[in-house]
Amino acid sequence: MNPRSYYERIFELLEAHHLWFKRSIPLIASENVPSSAVREAIISDFCNRYAEGWPGDRVYAGCKYLDEVEVMAMELAKKLYNADFADVRPISGVVANLVLYTVFTEPGDHIFALPIPRGGHISAARRKFKGTAGAVRGLNVNYFAYDEEELNIDVDRTIKRINALAKKGVKPKLALFGASVFLFPHPIKELADVFHSLDAVVAYDASHVAGLIAGGCFQKPFEEGVDVISMSTHKTLPGPQHGMILSVEKYGDLIKNTTFPALVSNHHLHNVAGLAVALAEMLAFGRTYASQIVRNAKALAQALYERGFKVLGEKKGFTASHTILIDVSEFGGGAPVEAKLEEANIFVNRNLLPWDVRLGRHYKNPGGMRLGVSEVTRLGMRENEMVEIADFIKSVIIDGKDPKAIREKVAEFRRSFQRVHYCFDNALEAYEYVKLRK
Ligand SMILES: *Cc1c(COP(=O)(O)O)cnc(C)c1O
Repeated sequence: MNPRSYYERIFELLEAHHLWFKRSIPLIASENVPSSAVREAIISDFCNRYAEGWPGDRVYAGCKYLDEVEVMAMELAKKLYNADFADVRPISGVVANLVLYTVFTEPGDHIFALPIPRGGHISAARRKFKGTAGAVRGLNVNYFAYDEEELNIDVDRTIKRINALAKKGVKPKLALFGASVFLFPHPIKELADVFHSLDAVVAYDASHVAGLIAGGCFQKPFEEGVDVISMSTHKTLPGPQHGMILSVEKYGDLIKNTTFPALVSNHHLHNVAGLAVALAEMLAFGRTYASQIVRNAKALAQALYERGFKVLGEKKGFTASHTILIDVSEFGGGAPVEAKLEEANIFVNRNLLPWDVRLGRHYKNPGGMRLGVSEVTRLGMRENEMVEIADFIKSVIIDGKDPKAIREKVAEFRRSFQRVHYCFDNALEAYEYVKLRK
């Protein structure tokens, strides 16, 4: 291809992607769609600038407007999460966790986190899985015990593990709560004191549930005993792809002096602006948005369950978050289910179930499928639409209908849900392609 053909082809692909999403049902639990206001902020000239350091104390000129926006982002974050301190510079959730590891641990130290099959994220995984905690910071990752019935951390068995470790003379330095399959609030209140009594820092990775917490619909980490919160800002929180750290007063300076210079140089100022916009939207609309997410997740879980799917957590009301986990092993596993639904323009992702590793299943074709309803909620869908989505999924997976036929129906269904809700301005359609070229 000549340069011009590459150039043209890139834009063709971008536009095709937008059109595809316009006609689809996006159910990836880690994704969302930001408002047109957030999109405006992230294509501003902020995306071309540097501002190393802290507002008012930069090592570059030209920062006066950037500084004011960054200060507002911190102010909004502190208000929304009831935090003493906010650092909006980490450029992603993984980088935010790496800041915590750098501040609170040394290589060789022990931490507690969830393993991947029980919902843990790769950034808190062991070295042998090339997880950030093990492979980058050289940490020993101990696992919270997990209750497969309750689909949550097992408090009593976790305390036993902490005590067994203490008997060997090992004190954990950090407990990292939070997960990527996060159905129910974690037992912070029950475990924070135990970790604190060993001088461990109690951290909470809110990447998945940050929007729910901001809307007052999940748990209140600081009130329950957490010292520090890390997160990515684009999952239930409908901001740009970025990261953030919040903490109690006493750790503020340590975090501030580590994020820069250790973990960021440029901190993606356009995304800081986009984050500030999203946080303002959450302050105004977060409660209605988050409560609708939880209602939608429960409604979709119930509808899928009634149609014959093995939705986990039935006895507990399926979920208290945006996420649903389904055992699809009887349909060949998560991989073929994901692929068939994609053919129908329904996007979900395969996921390990808590017991998959024991059964010899692998992440390439695990037994589960994970669904999230943040994006469809943002598009204005409510409980009735969740029932329709369950029907589409059943048609493809249980009834074996041709995905291409369902795809047409999905596009028709999506027609009346083209704008982002829960924001100050939705002049632009959610997936409208913005062309800046002549
Ligand atoms: C998504 C996620 C991350 C990583 O966030 P990125 O912004 O993709 O780096 C970290 N922790 C958890 C629990 C996550 O779900």
